[in-house]
Amino acid sequence: MTSQKHPATLIPGDGIGPEIVDATLRALDALGAPFEWETCVAGMAGVKDAGDPLPRATLDSIHRTQLALKGPLETPIGGGYRSSNVRLRQEFKLFANVRPAKTLIPGGRYENIDIVLVRENLEGLYVGFEHYIPIGSDEQAVAIGSGVNTRVGSRRIAEFAYDYAEKHGRKKVTIVHKANIMKALTGIFLETSREVSKGYEGRVATDERIVDACAMQLVLNPWQFDVIVTTNLFGDILSDEIAGLVGGLGMAPGANIGQHAAIFEAVHGSAPDIAGKGVANPIALMLAAAMMLDHVGHQELAGRLRAGIDGALNVDGVRTRDLGGKADTKALTDAIVARVKNG
Ligand code: NAD
Repeated sequence: MTSQKHPATLIPGDGIGPEIVDATLRALDALGAPFEWETCVAGMAGVKDAGDPLPRATLDSIHRTQLALKGPLETPIGGGYRSSNVRLRQEFKLFANVRPAKTLIPGGRYENIDIVLVRENLEGLYVGFEHYIPIGSDEQAVAIGSGVNTRVGSRRIAEFAYDYAEKHGRKKVTIVHKANIMKALTGIFLETSREVSKGYEGRVATDERIVDACAMQLVLNPWQFDVIVTTNLFGDILSDEIAGLVGGLGMAPGANIGQHAAIFEAVHGSAPDIAGKGVANPIALMLAAAMMLDHVGHQELAGRLRAGIDGALNVDGVRTRDLGGKADTKALTDAIVARVKNG
């Protein structure tokens, strides 16, 4: 472990964001995590503070630090501004979205889940090529959206997934697609991933699933999956399903990784229904912070944070409402901080 400090951008975000970011900072402080934070705004908070959901100062900060921890950002549904999350991924070319899901609380519907979903983050149906065609007096009579997948992008994400599998001692990568229907759009992803898989033969096994069958099999027999690699939209949907296997969105962290920058966040959104009530589960963001520690080479601190979370949940039995407990954010954070300090 080095004593080097890592400048990092901190975006508290919207809704429950500031509550879970505060909780996570408390746990990181207790660990003595070596981050030097530059706090910036984005999302609705960016609109309120700086008139922009993704202010220049926030982008400049991430360009400088190349590392960020981000609370969820609100995006208006339908109209309004474009998702700041999508813009951040594009600005910093964060092509890989890594979403691990591991059972932390025994006795749930599924035991011993350990799946890592690797989602292509820049292409597919999320590129935002959408428009309406007016007919008669209806300005929005027809809606058209196009997806874009490239061979270069498909190869990059497949190589990332296989490389991740090999480095983390994983046995198998499942390529998830819909090439039977979207023959060009997801066919290019399937073919390219197959090509990449050949380079790992004998070291990492390969499997394929059509996305709808995969969704069903994740419910029937999730233990058959190890690492899943898929395109943008399918990855977004399946990662929420996988989070459900391990106790819900409050337990699911995510990393957005590019060649030059990485942004760590919870998979969940700003949870407006519980914002300001002090009941949000901070664990997803804390697990994202553990991934961030791994990323900068502090595996030992990351391990202590994960152990603190495990101890608070399973030894102290402190759990928030989404996990079937009665604790609020502060009580769970207090328990994790105490474990981390004594661990
Ligand atoms: P959501 O994830 O915010 O909430 C879905 C449900 O899960 C809600 O009932 C919520 O209370 C619950 N939940 C989520 N996180 C929780 C936590 N930590 N503890 C306890 N319960 C939790 O999804 P949504 O309601 O569809 O989206 C709300 C907003 O968040 C939207 O504006 C959306 O665009 C945005 N969003 C942002 C991100 C991101 O920043 N990465 C991701 C998803 C959604």
